[in-house]
Amino acid sequence: RAKADGRNIGRFFDPSMQDAADRRAAFEAAMRDGLSLGQFRLFCQPQFDGRGRLVGAEVLVRWQRSDLDLIGPDHFIGFAEESGLILPLGEHVLKESCRALARWHDDATLGRLKLAVNVSVHQMRDAGFPAAVANILDGTGAHPEQLYLELTESVFAEDMQEITQRMHELRSHGICFSLDDFGTGYSSLAYLKRFPLSALKIDRSFVRDIGIDPGSASIVEAIIALARQFKLEIVAEGVELEAQRAFLIREGCSSMQGYLLGRPIPMAEFEHRYSASGIGHA
Ligand code: C2E
Ligand code: MG
Ligand code: MG
Ligand code: MG
Repeated sequence: RAKADGRNIGRFFDPSMQDAADRRAAFEAAMRDGLSLGQFRLFCQPQFDGRGRLVGAEVLVRWQRSDLDLIGPDHFIGFAEESGLILPLGEHVLKESCRALARWHDDATLGRLKLAVNVSVHQMRDAGFPAAVANILDGTGAHPEQLYLELTESVFAEDMQEITQRMHELRSHGICFSLDDFGTGYSSLAYLKRFPLSALKIDRSFVRDIGIDPGSASIVEAIIALARQFKLEIVAEGVELEAQRAFLIREGCSSMQGYLLGRPIPMAEFEHRYSASGIGHA
């Protein structure tokens, strides 16, 4: 993930703002405005099982600063985390995601999807987070079993007891957890036993090198075997080539996402494309 350093921030601002602190303050003010103006938009990337059926989607946020300027999360999530804005941003993403789940309930296709939402370690540190999520579920009427929260391995560098307790609290509401970018961070097999996880996401870097580097193919096989042992669902990310898809299916990977199968698209477009009953045609 790109850090919110001067280079990223500088891209959007007046060069007369020489001082890094000025640029940060301006970026923070712009993000706050963006939040109140509804400029943070949810995109959805579809996930498919081995038979090609749509089984879920991942929510990916983008900042629509103007008609022509759509900024990817790598340019602002790091900064949002440093500034604390990740809390209102994360809440916005969760609320909009749960609104979507509720809207989809009666649709034959969308109504049975799992929706995965990325959650920052900063949100997990917040003792009020489980109650906030429960409130959002209540307020929107979304079914918690359809909500998957994606954590990266960085949460396991935190206070274990605190994180485990928070995860159990959220699990008690019926929410599931996925471990994102698995194999790239502070991985330890002990976590698979200690944390109430439902799914592992195989990092894109391993999927990318499946046909290139036998080591990566072996890692993918090992992760799938591990997931099976621990009775975890498995999602492969970054599937771009038919050969990668074929390999993953052969290995018994239960679901996958990637440009080959579908790019992230705006939520309304996702509904329009995949709805069985015409949601999103308005
Ligand atoms: P991630 O959760 O690992 O999301 C997967 C990233 O891979 C997304 O990048 C997605 O657009 C991209 N991707 C999907 N399929 C392919 C493919 O076939 N090839 C390639 N090259 N890339 C693919 P994106 O949308 O730029 O998001 C980057 C990261 O930003 C995410 O990584 C996630 O960590 C973070 N992020 C996104 N939305 C949120 C959010 O709402 N909250 C938080 N805390 N983090 C978010
Ligand atoms: Mg993710
Ligand atoms: Mg990932
Ligand atoms: Mg990633």
